[in-house]
Amino acid sequence: MTISLRKLTNFAAEMKGQTKGAGRFAPSPTGRMHLGNIFTALVSWVRARRRGARWILRIEDLDPGRSRAEWARLIEDDLHWLGLDWDEGGAEGRGDHGPYCQSLRGEFYEEALRRLTATGLTYGCTCRRADIMATQAPHQSDGRIVYAGTCRPAVIPRPEGERSVPDGVATRIWVPDRDITFTDEICGETTVNLARHCGDFLLRRADGAWAYQLAVVVDDALMGVDEVVRGDDLLLSTAQQLYLYDLLGYRAPRFAHVPLVRNEQGIRLSKRDSSASMEYLRAHHTPEEIIGRLAQMAGFRPDPSPVNAKSLITDSL
Ligand SMILES: [Zn+2]
Repeated sequence: MTISLRKLTNFAAEMKGQTKGAGRFAPSPTGRMHLGNIFTALVSWVRARRRGARWILRIEDLDPGRSRAEWARLIEDDLHWLGLDWDEGGAEGRGDHGPYCQSLRGEFYEEALRRLTATGLTYGCTCRRADIMATQAPHQSDGRIVYAGTCRPAVIPRPEGERSVPDGVATRIWVPDRDITFTDEICGETTVNLARHCGDFLLRRADGAWAYQLAVVVDDALMGVDEVVRGDDLLLSTAQQLYLYDLLGYRAPRFAHVPLVRNEQGIRLSKRDSSASMEYLRAHHTPEEIIGRLAQMAGFRPDPSPVNAKSLITDSL
């Protein structure tokens, strides 16, 4: 496995006087974890532990078709085995900011949606997926979908009295055609124009399922998360979240997007890379061997020798 170390070492070394908040790990229980997931978990855990912050395990099971309680249990078991302990969350949901499974947090998302609706910036969208795909420009070959604004009302913000979105209709939020710039702890200054990046995006799907963008903002804000460490495939979506933080009046956390771990062919790890899955890793390695290797990749240590996770908290660099 290879990974770009550029900036990551600096990131690990830099522990400026940060206040005690919380870090978090928020896996989707759709399969066994792999090296990429645990790399992200380790970086987040070490960062939180070194500054004395809480570390939260949140189960992102918004997709009922793909999420399984059995996978959530295995995620917890693998984290235990690696020595990455959490203060709040998990399936049993101990802590003051629960529940910690997104499937149980609908009331919080409802409340946030009410507040966003009150801004007049939301509207109902009746487009089917095929309609949206038909409006995509050919250059969006990266799989990104940019909503063309087909259902956008003529007047935004919408006047009072025209704001309810009926059941069975998706809810979108209007986005401005301007640059949003933020500084990622690892990737540096990043600028995204939401109108061009994604267009008016979904808050709730037609089937009633909550969109990730809304849920992640509400959860991180209400759980007191002040540092989000996650894979850099989510870097650009940060702008959507910052937009919602602003509208909801929440204080945004720091963001640190770590490089995705890639396989020997340079392709990001997926559940298909069986030799990187926790099942394989646990059968062939000790926790210390795995932590040692990931700690070097993260820039926490100069060499990949075996080490237990706890010793990384106090290790000097
Ligand atoms: Zn539409």
